[in-house]
Amino acid sequence: MSIPNVDILTQGATRKDKELIEKAYNFAERAHEGQKRESGDPHFYHVFETAKILTSLKMDAKTVAGGLLHDVLEDTSITEKELEKEFGPEVLFLVNGVTNLGTLKYIGHQRHVESLRKFFVAMSNDLRVVIIKFADRLHNLQTLQFLREDKRKRIAIESIEVYAPLANRLGMWKLKSEIEEAAFPFAFPKECAQMEEIVKEKKDSYEKNLSKVKRELEKEFAKNKNKVIEINYRVKNNYSLWRKLVKREMDIEKVYDVVALRIIVENVEECYRVLGLIHSLWKPLPGRIKDYIAIPKPNGYRSIHTTIFTGGGGIAEIQIKTREMHAESLNGIAAHFAYKEQSGKRNYDEKLKFKWLEELKGLNYSSNESRKFLENLKMDFFNDRIFIFTPEGDIVDLPEDSTPIDFAYAIHSDVGDHIFGVKINGKMSKIFSKLKNRDIVEIIKKPDAHPSSKWLDYAKTTIARKNIRSYLEQNSLYGKLRSFGKS
Ligand code: MN
Repeated sequence: MSIPNVDILTQGATRKDKELIEKAYNFAERAHEGQKRESGDPHFYHVFETAKILTSLKMDAKTVAGGLLHDVLEDTSITEKELEKEFGPEVLFLVNGVTNLGTLKYIGHQRHVESLRKFFVAMSNDLRVVIIKFADRLHNLQTLQFLREDKRKRIAIESIEVYAPLANRLGMWKLKSEIEEAAFPFAFPKECAQMEEIVKEKKDSYEKNLSKVKRELEKEFAKNKNKVIEINYRVKNNYSLWRKLVKREMDIEKVYDVVALRIIVENVEECYRVLGLIHSLWKPLPGRIKDYIAIPKPNGYRSIHTTIFTGGGGIAEIQIKTREMHAESLNGIAAHFAYKEQSGKRNYDEKLKFKWLEELKGLNYSSNESRKFLENLKMDFFNDRIFIFTPEGDIVDLPEDSTPIDFAYAIHSDVGDHIFGVKINGKMSKIFSKLKNRDIVEIIKKPDAHPSSKWLDYAKTTIARKNIRSYLEQNSLYGKLRSFGKS
């Protein structure tokens, strides 16, 4: 923790932005005067650290100001009116948004669902509110040791269950990882200690293996004049390692990417050249070559991954990406704001990237939504995703274990309402089959084919279930009578 210094927040800012941030800095310092955190530090340190995280994400000046001011409405006597008078409606909107996200008084499951709902609403209004909240939470996590134990555990678990998946969904990998890293020891102390033990034991051999691969690569790159900017490696954080181990029957030998080599190159063509070179040097593991450049992950992540046999029983995951992809993979949607600020242009497929966010906006969440609906929503957006192709090559992004019914409704409700049959990879299949990543799915429609209540047992997505239900309702005897009475 550093002593607050406003210069840290204004490096490279325009004069106007600098003025705004300095004003917010002084305002917040005065407003929180005399207030102390559990750690004994002045409360102002906390809002400064929050703003610092936002600066490192290269957020715009209003967001940084919002970070400095995020606690003044809740914790001081400053009113909305005063805040608006000093900083304008946009900064007030951001601070209000963060304040509303923060006042959750529910406990247990209901609280979890309610926080998600609030997040979704905030996200569809202005993502910057959520990003300020992330920064606020990250700093709170970093100072968690000063809180009471029960409070500590609750905040840590909520961070892992709500904040980290959301950050991941927004492509903010670095933040997600920092949140998990800070929360894991408090949320699941035993499991965390276990992971530390495993990593400690394995780390040396992983590193030795990778540095051998790295040296060989450097030689080859020089020989072939590859445009490589940097080779480094990342270690999987303890929490995601634990998650993966649970999936792999706790067998560390089945986790190939505990440590991964990252190769940053100049442009996209070079990514493929380097991949070719690597495969000519080492044999790749079948089924582990992933081209997220041609088909980015739903959260926008782009890179090429491959896993190779390095000889002597060694295995290594290698990730190849451009500098821009690397920056984006660290900060995700926040990088999007930074780009917009700097150049005004965007150079990736935003339509694919933000489709799920648009879907969120399209679904109405009123305050009387059932718990079940929100649970389903949670599953739609946080589960691992699969990509399904239409015969025309369009991509539909669905949660794992989706069926052709989900696929049909993702295309259009009219397609879903008239499913007669389905071809998966050219073969006639059951409409209740579970789809696998990269299946090509063709829905066969018939005007007199219609949903049955059995479909509800197989539809995974909220959109499909909602449509099936509304079809059944409209066409039930009761529905018919009702509409008859109306006409
Ligand atoms: Mn705060």
